[in-house]
Amino acid sequence: MEKKTVWESYSAKDKKEMEKLCGEYKAFLTRGKTERLCTSMTVEMAEAAGYKDIKELIAKGRSLKAGDKVYAVNMNKMVALFRIGKEPLEKGMAILGAHIDSPRIDVKQNPLYEDNGFAYLDTHYYGGIKKYQWVTIPLAIHGVVVRKDGKVINISIGEEENEPVFCITDLLIHLSADNMEKKASKVIEGENLDILFGSIPFTDKKKEEKETKEAVRKNVLKLLKDKYGIEEEDLSSAELEVVPAGPARDSGLDSSMVLGYGQDDRICAFTSLKAMLNVEKSDHTACCLLVDKEEIGSVGATGMRSRFFENTVAELLDLAGGHDELKLRRCLANSRMLSSDVSAAFDPLYASAYEKKNSAYFGKGLVFNKFTGSRGKSGSNDANPEFIARIRRVLDDAGVAYQTAELGKVDVGGGGTIAYIMALYGMEVIDCGVAILNMHAPWEIASKADVYEAVRGYEAFLKGIF
Ligand code: MN
Ligand code: MN
Repeated sequence: MEKKTVWESYSAKDKKEMEKLCGEYKAFLTRGKTERLCTSMTVEMAEAAGYKDIKELIAKGRSLKAGDKVYAVNMNKMVALFRIGKEPLEKGMAILGAHIDSPRIDVKQNPLYEDNGFAYLDTHYYGGIKKYQWVTIPLAIHGVVVRKDGKVINISIGEEENEPVFCITDLLIHLSADNMEKKASKVIEGENLDILFGSIPFTDKKKEEKETKEAVRKNVLKLLKDKYGIEEEDLSSAELEVVPAGPARDSGLDSSMVLGYGQDDRICAFTSLKAMLNVEKSDHTACCLLVDKEEIGSVGATGMRSRFFENTVAELLDLAGGHDELKLRRCLANSRMLSSDVSAAFDPLYASAYEKKNSAYFGKGLVFNKFTGSRGKSGSNDANPEFIARIRRVLDDAGVAYQTAELGKVDVGGGGTIAYIMALYGMEVIDCGVAILNMHAPWEIASKADVYEAVRGYEAFLKGIF
């Protein structure tokens, strides 16, 4: 069985709508370079659509009724949107989930050092990366520095035309004879992924004297103090993320694709969010859940394994007329979810890593993975065929393109998402998402048609899965 790409079937109107949507998508990628930025943008979009902060409702002792829209933010890095349906919550929710953290390079807590006239920031990478892909490209730094007095200083350097960018150096080819013999996993060592941060030594203007000891480091510290009001010690309570600098843009002579950083998994986060905001009515409560820490195992208070989601649903039940433990269990168990994450698109240049007829392809729409995991489906959620059949009906009725796939050949590798965590509640959940090329590389590629199909597919799911 082979599916066609959607391009031939698109009308001029479809193409126009797709371009408009992908314009918004590129802006989302360009601005949303961290999970914090994605969270604040999501809140901005939700509030513009009439969503209210659940904390306010709780503080004011308000109650929730059908049609109400609320959002809950967890530590500025995870966010859930809910639109209350006519059916009681215990009948379950239609949930769209995705993650907003992406592979990157994090600045260490004691990062600054000087070596031979250069100042550097020491780093520790986050998530699975091919380290050699991250050297010699322009990088930006985003994040927060929190001072002891509680003041949060937002940092963003390297995105605007007039701002400097950063870089990690690599050894010139002329001197790389030994280096080129190393395994790809060793050719760039983790401890060598340090950011070149400055090179001007500090000079005491009054004395017209050049400092002799660590003068470049001293100059960098002075700049940090003057520009941001931070001392070196403040970096110990900072979260600074180093990411590829520059905007997401069209790719290909026909501009059929988007090249951008962080499409794993902001492509699913953005399309899920758009669908959530587009669908104004459904009988069951609708939810869009955007989580952090997926790339390192969904751990921590802002990862899917935290109780934030469950706690928030308990609060919702309380606001909607009374919480009890059984209602909460029923609500979660009766929910139906698309756990969306990117899928590996078939890459003809590396065909041997894929099994062709069970691979995801560009332009063929939403990708469904019945199971993920690796080597005998280990660690996988395995979605029920009854649920998959229902999804097929919903998508076919709405004329949405979709395909089924596995992540690569059996025994070659694998990966998983948050589906198995939600499955703990006993809900119906399937891994699904959008196909991309170069997954986890600084710049990833997606098909515009798949962005368009994803939004349409998620809308159909919210409207029709119950
Ligand atoms: Mn992912
Ligand atoms: Mn990933």
